[in-house]
Amino acid sequence: MQELLKPAGFFRVKSQRLRNLLALLERYDYDLDRLFSQKAPELRKTLLAVNGIGKETADSIVCYGAGYPVFVVDAYARRLAKRLQWQHHDAEYDLLRKSVEQSFNGVMEQLGELHGLIVVHCKEVCRKKPLCVQCVLKQPPLNCPFPRGESL
Ligand code: SF4
Repeated sequence: MQELLKPAGFFRVKSQRLRNLLALLERYDYDLDRLFSQKAPELRKTLLAVNGIGKETADSIVCYGAGYPVFVVDAYARRLAKRLQWQHHDAEYDLLRKSVEQSFNGVMEQLGELHGLIVVHCKEVCRKKPLCVQCVLKQPPLNCPFPRGESL
């Protein structure tokens, strides 16, 4: 496995993490429907118990794999939250996640789409060096307060 992973770097660590993931899947007879049949909090706990799966990865699987309404806090979400000055934008992972989830109470199924849109927006417009000139978020209702030209 290490030979196959060599081009990706950190091959020793990655191969061990893949083994850990495979061990989890084996416990569920490689049946993703069985793994994903757990409720979101239990599934998250199951995934986080695997050495090598962190909160962002666990929530990505819970959201995009199992289809639960969970907000994934990645570097893009963090960057946009900071620039738009969302509540708890600087807080630790779970506080920001819960804060966004609570804000979307009632339309929870849109959290995956929201995260996807944030990723696209941050790749194309709200880059490290943001292209504010072409950004719709500087207009009402969001009125992005980020000082133009700075980078985070
Ligand atoms: S106005 Fe600039 S900083 Fe604000 S969201 Fe748009 S690109 Fe990002």
